[in-house]
Amino acid sequence: MSWQIPLTDVVVTEDDLAAARECLESGWLTMGPRTGAFEAAMVEWHDVPHAAAVSSGTAALHLACRALDLGPGDEVIVPAFTFLASAGCVRYCGATPVLADVVSPERPNLDPADVERRITPRTKAVIAVHFWGYPADIAGLRAVCEPRGIAIIEDAAQAIGARVDGDALAGTAGTLGCLSFFSKKQLSVGEGGMVLTRDAALDASVRSLRSHAMTSGTWDRHTGRQESYDVVGFGFNYRMDELRAAFGRARLGRLHAEIEHRRAAVRGYRERLADAPGVTLVWDEAAVEAGSHFAFAVLFADGEARAKARDVLAERGIQTTRYPVLHSLTEYASFAGYGTLPAAEAAADRHLALPLSALTTDAQLDAVGEAVRAAA
Ligand SMILES: *Cc1c(COP(=O)(O)O)cnc(C)c1O
Repeated sequence: MSWQIPLTDVVVTEDDLAAARECLESGWLTMGPRTGAFEAAMVEWHDVPHAAAVSSGTAALHLACRALDLGPGDEVIVPAFTFLASAGCVRYCGATPVLADVVSPERPNLDPADVERRITPRTKAVIAVHFWGYPADIAGLRAVCEPRGIAIIEDAAQAIGARVDGDALAGTAGTLGCLSFFSKKQLSVGEGGMVLTRDAALDASVRSLRSHAMTSGTWDRHTGRQESYDVVGFGFNYRMDELRAAFGRARLGRLHAEIEHRRAAVRGYRERLADAPGVTLVWDEAAVEAGSHFAFAVLFADGEARAKARDVLAERGIQTTRYPVLHSLTEYASFAGYGTLPAAEAAADRHLALPLSALTTDAQLDAVGEAVRAAA
């Protein structure tokens, strides 16, 4: 099926193509100087001391958990309303994800009060997801976590460029922050991720683990700096390659402008839908200004109204999507009983995400806005 208005779209410029061509012609394809340059650019862009590129956002989350030494017997609190990788990374380490509720369907990020209720002596970390690019309550989570020595991992896979804690950028406010460059994300290169941190020891651990915990890399040996290597831990191959690093660095220069385009589109949606009967907007103006707008979703009265709206939009060639609550997935059903996380469940049941990208036009906003009104 080819959609008249697809859910998302990617901007590729001549500069991107030139960066890719330069990389291919150089003959060096795996992690090397372009990956280093992409990391340096991200350090500067985020005003954070350390950034380690990896092969995906999921790999970034896994290495963040490993750098914190999470393992069997440890519990990590994760919002029930998120993409499953936020919980999968905990299970990769043998630790246990504990699902917590979001504040409300209108504010579908982790609720610090519910996090506090679920803390046990085994709780070692909280995964703060900035869902759809809207900032989670980092100050509230810090107040709960810091006195107990519980680490905060920011899952900023959907939130690069969001302001999460006053002025801090998403990924720089927790113990470690994880970004994704998956093709639907704001800074997309196909597949890729990054771990940000202010802690030099955690950064060193992530860098070691991303390449088998070897004491030298292929580039070091190619440039004659190292002849061989030792292996000093149990690591992985989570390296980024040069083509994606070159593409990511080329795209970074216009990321602020692309996020601003997404934000303007979100404002446009909100104006068109503010008084639409049967439609509830999520978040508020302040969150719209702080967020970086991975997705724009609205709430309908209930699941039935949402399903009907989906069909009306699909008939008009408008693609939409919906995020399931984690414990509704077969693999995650045993992690919480349905009915026990009411705000997350209502959010998952009632929302529909509408088309949004750095290419969204006013005509598309008109068409989608009118279709949503007709459906509700
Ligand atoms: C996309 C995403 C991830 C995983 O990132 P990948 O790059 O696809 O592995 C993790 N958490 C959230 C919230 C995401 O949206």
